[in-house]
Amino acid sequence: AAWTREEGWHPAYLRPRGSLSMDPAMVGLHYGQAVFEGLKAYRQADGATGVFRAHDHAERFQRSARRLAMPELPTDTFLRAVDELVASDAGPLPDDPALSLYLRPLLYASEPLLALRPAHQYQFVMIAFLTGGFFADRPDPVSVWINRDQSRAAPGGTGDIKCAGNYAPGYLAQQRAASAGCQQVIWLDPVEHNHVEEMGGMNLFFVHGSGSRARIVTPPRTGTLLPGITRDSLFTLAARLGWRSGEERLSVDGWREACRSGAITEAFACGTAAGVTPIGTVHDGTTSWRIGDGGPGPVTLALRSALTDVQRGRAADPGGWIRRVTAA
Ligand code: PMP
Repeated sequence: AAWTREEGWHPAYLRPRGSLSMDPAMVGLHYGQAVFEGLKAYRQADGATGVFRAHDHAERFQRSARRLAMPELPTDTFLRAVDELVASDAGPLPDDPALSLYLRPLLYASEPLLALRPAHQYQFVMIAFLTGGFFADRPDPVSVWINRDQSRAAPGGTGDIKCAGNYAPGYLAQQRAASAGCQQVIWLDPVEHNHVEEMGGMNLFFVHGSGSRARIVTPPRTGTLLPGITRDSLFTLAARLGWRSGEERLSVDGWREACRSGAITEAFACGTAAGVTPIGTVHDGTTSWRIGDGGPGPVTLALRSALTDVQRGRAADPGGWIRRVTAA
């Protein structure tokens, strides 16, 4: 669908996937006036297709658009695009528990303009592709590298929305993590460079204690981390499993000490693409430490199952989380 200042939104339509045409002076390309989402559809226990928390993704998409002075896509247009794409593009999803359909909505400024003002023309597109788990080839815990001297977000900036430019600062960090033998980057708060915030495309959780006394905590919404929909879902699912959850700041030193003393027993990352992924080892400069015994812990695994059970319609929907789509 297209938007122009004169006419507002034009009706959306479905067409076979192909190239987009653009002017080389397109605003979205030069200045990053572009926002996106990532959501998934899963095959349900009864064979239907269900999209996870589509309404919440539509709302975050609108919040992202507002922050970049872009026109908001109406929720019903977003949801209709989800429904039509899922129904037509994929048909019924294959009965493979490792597969899901990833949906990527994107809104970008398409106007050719080198001056610095919000564009007067936008395009909304959504693409879909079948995917295995993000770490399908690596079900083991990941090792993470703490980025001590760079930031992905700034106070008052755009770290708490999903816009294109947020990911560019992460590429070099990803290379540095890889050369330290790690798979993922941990970003710290951008003011003191001391408190843990999130990973490149995932939120973080720490497990304090164990058994029925376990408590899961995640860094608070500082404005510089993305409040993930998976993160939010895990608060509900932890309560179902009888575990307390909450938001708490954690310094790097506090993390290391709590792992040494056994106060923190597990840590994991979560997101739409990653699901729930255990973290095994942390690298901080020349220091490194293991979390628990370095393997996936019981709380992490239980939350992972609780999440996939809801996503695949094997456990009760906590309330409007699954949007059922009938194949065309
Ligand atoms: N943080 C960042 C920076 C992300 O890109 C994502 C993925 N959207 C997340 C966290 C996890 O968010 P969600 O659970 O909504 O996918």
